[in-house]
Amino acid sequence: MKTTDSEIQLYIHIPFCKRKCAYCDFLSAPATFSQMESYMDALRKEISLRKGEAAGKRLRSVYIGGGTPSYLLSEQIERTMDLVQQEYPVQPNTEVTIEVNPGMVNEAKAKAYARCGINRISMGLQETHDELLAHLGRIHTYHKFLESYTLCRKAGFDNINIDLMCGIPGQSLEMWEETLTRVLRLRTPHLSCYGLIIEEGTPFYELYGEDEERRERGEEPLHLPSEELERSMYAMTGQMLREAGYHHYEISNYAKEGFESVHNNGYWQRYPYIGCGLGASSLVGEERWDNPREMEDYITPLSEGHLPDVEKRALSVKEQMEEFMFLGLRRMEGVYISDFTENFGRDSEVIYGDVMARLREEGLLEKKEGRIFLTGKGIDVSNYVFSEFLIDSV
Ligand code: SF4
Repeated sequence: MKTTDSEIQLYIHIPFCKRKCAYCDFLSAPATFSQMESYMDALRKEISLRKGEAAGKRLRSVYIGGGTPSYLLSEQIERTMDLVQQEYPVQPNTEVTIEVNPGMVNEAKAKAYARCGINRISMGLQETHDELLAHLGRIHTYHKFLESYTLCRKAGFDNINIDLMCGIPGQSLEMWEETLTRVLRLRTPHLSCYGLIIEEGTPFYELYGEDEERRERGEEPLHLPSEELERSMYAMTGQMLREAGYHHYEISNYAKEGFESVHNNGYWQRYPYIGCGLGASSLVGEERWDNPREMEDYITPLSEGHLPDVEKRALSVKEQMEEFMFLGLRRMEGVYISDFTENFGRDSEVIYGDVMARLREEGLLEKKEGRIFLTGKGIDVSNYVFSEFLIDSV
């Protein structure tokens, strides 16, 4: 399949959270009501001003992420969605997702989401043990999550993703198994299971940065789970979810038949996307740009009626090929060799023949039925595999 410019995705960023989680380095922060109002006004202007980028294209998906979009009043989301419906070609079957945080949604909000065309919810649970949730700095308990999940279901949402996190300090293999068991009882059609990453600049980095370095040096960490325990958690996740009928379609993502995320699949398959909001990235016509990350730099130009200054950068063919490979290999299906040729007019063997042969010898990649994909061993060291696809020249 050739990734064409005839389809496009829309991402809308809401950079507000009630409180910052201890591990989070996303562009989000607490804010006052009037700060959120000013931001939403600017955001709506940007959504209108960028509609030309989508002209003549089919909208594959809309994703309202954050931050915590459900922190906003339902009217703020409805007004934004009304505008999206008016300015972009949203079809009835277009996937429209909103991220919801447990404890930040009520019945009225959930019903409003359904009313304004949102048809998928992504909920950040992370863990089901309250002591771990508290340590992560999450604002909710497991009980609160269950309440929020139930009311979203009652509002008519059957397409719900739940985010889970393993590799948390203090989390044993038994606790992770219990979390998976509890969540599987809900029969939700999509689960994202990520490993905790210790990001610089976060409270967790202060607490665990040195421990992370120990682990990277191959030493036994003092607080973080060992690499061996992390691998066991990953293996347990795959086994339990597959047995429960989920299809493992991306390194960290599992879905019941027909419930793969259209939006995230689009990123991994390099569909063009428009990002609206603070710090949001866009990729259109192989040009990439990022919105300003400072609130004032974002809001001021939009309040004057024009888009903020951004530096648009054309991706070289080399960069496009690298992205094609390491994003595509995130998917368990891998990349089709014929797609590479179709997209770049070059044979992948000519560009990556040596790398692919070596990685296959190392047991990290497999080639079958016209596609290459990560093996189980390759998934464990996926960052190493991806880095091998960086090329100096083509
Ligand atoms: S709710 Fe999500 S975006 Fe907000 S601070 Fe926590 S992890 Fe970050």
